[in-house]
Amino acid sequence: MDPGITRRDALKGIGAAGLGLAMAAATGGEEITHTTQGGDTMAIQPTAYALPPLPYKSLEPVIDDATLALHHDKHHAAYVKGAAGALEALAKARDAGDLSLVQHWERTLAFHGSGVVLHNLYWESLWPGGRGKPSAALAQAVEASFGSQEKMAAQFAAATKAVEGSGWGLLAWEPLGRRLVILQVEKHQDLTVWGCVPILVCDVWEHAYYLKYQNKRPDYVDAWMKIIDWEGASKRFEAAAK
Ligand code: MN
Repeated sequence: MDPGITRRDALKGIGAAGLGLAMAAATGGEEITHTTQGGDTMAIQPTAYALPPLPYKSLEPVIDDATLALHHDKHHAAYVKGAAGALEALAKARDAGDLSLVQHWERTLAFHGSGVVLHNLYWESLWPGGRGKPSAALAQAVEASFGSQEKMAAQFAAATKAVEGSGWGLLAWEPLGRRLVILQVEKHQDLTVWGCVPILVCDVWEHAYYLKYQNKRPDYVDAWMKIIDWEGASKRFEAAAK
């Protein structure tokens, strides 16, 4: 065993750490800490997926309240349940030594796990009436990667409107090329570039807009782009690109 890895005494856990231990136990995970060569300590601990509360009460008039409630309480919640179920099934399969259904559960994990990640970020991408503007660092990266804010916005909107079937438009940081890219994701997990960190995500599954916008997805995307939380996007960008 790597001498840098030690298990924390479970009884030491208080507050968030205590909650983390309880969640780790529920998923069969164990909290460990690892000391890197640079001397930093990093916590390595599986955390169970959970439905986060919405950060606001309403996004009217752009997103109607009925859609907001259904989208968060039913659809997002179902992805949380699906991802947790896939992890649980895989743990049982490992323990039983029966991996005959591994392909099914890996596919389920990719779909629901990606659904959880993107829905968490969807709510964080928005703010009632919009908020702030891109930070200097984000604005500079947008210009370097796309030519201008306007060109980025035009490509983001066009790509998002043109998603084939159900999917997402993403503005993402691509760390290998150290640039921002726009991705057109199908379902929740297809058509990505490995390693990309989503900065802004727009859901264009019909459940995200159909009650208010019916078949007019472009109208929804255009309205969506007016309530972006640029403060949050700037923080995510700066954490990803440092
Ligand atoms: Mn959705």
